[in-house]
Amino acid sequence: MAKIIAIDGPSGVGKTTTSRAVARELGIPHIDTGAMYRALALAATREGIDTRDEAKLEDLASRTRIDFIPGERARVLLNGEDVTSMIRSPEMSMAASNVSAVPAVRRVLVRLQQDLGRRSGGVLEGRDIGTKVFPETPYKFFLTARPEVRARRRHAELLAKGEGASYETILVGTIARDEQDSTRADSPLSFDDSYTVIDTSDLTIEEVVERIVSLSS
Ligand code: C5P
Repeated sequence: MAKIIAIDGPSGVGKTTTSRAVARELGIPHIDTGAMYRALALAATREGIDTRDEAKLEDLASRTRIDFIPGERARVLLNGEDVTSMIRSPEMSMAASNVSAVPAVRRVLVRLQQDLGRRSGGVLEGRDIGTKVFPETPYKFFLTARPEVRARRRHAELLAKGEGASYETILVGTIARDEQDSTRADSPLSFDDSYTVIDTSDLTIEEVVERIVSLSS
């Protein structure tokens, strides 16, 4: 099977930057699975569907086409429309967390992630890659960082994009979303003994990347 690297962890631990760099070093695609949940959350919001309405979300997931196109500038398509930049707001973060708790939504998106990974291998980042999507891969990493560090990183990221939310608001949102992702019944954010856990609080991205690449070859 093509090489699969699973990178799981809560928001703001540097998963995206790290996964992208690891993928580049190993010459395999970077697959951002959170983007797929975000795209479905956008579809729900546009249709006025409550992001906690299981029956409506199940129907929505069954008739919505989501494509993820890896690359230096990866893109997410919602029924063919490029929604890559529209899915990054704090509102869409929480909406994605809501829709991702629905088992029917997870079934559809996990299948898409498995198809993509089997085709070309990849560095898959998410919450359940090593527990549910590719439990058989030997390369599993769980990134953590102190909540304050994660909120500070998110804050800086949003400021860089010219979006101003206060640090306090982001800290509260980060903690609430991680709590929801960690306590849901289907595929909660978690790890087991098969993972290498890396606390990124006091490490540079380069150090984290180096550690993952050296353990994945
Ligand atoms: O990683 P990102 O912040 O883009 O993910 C958005 C949300 O999608 C997460 O808060 C989580 O609820 C959900 N998600 C998930 N499983 C994944 C990836 C993301 O449940 N593999």
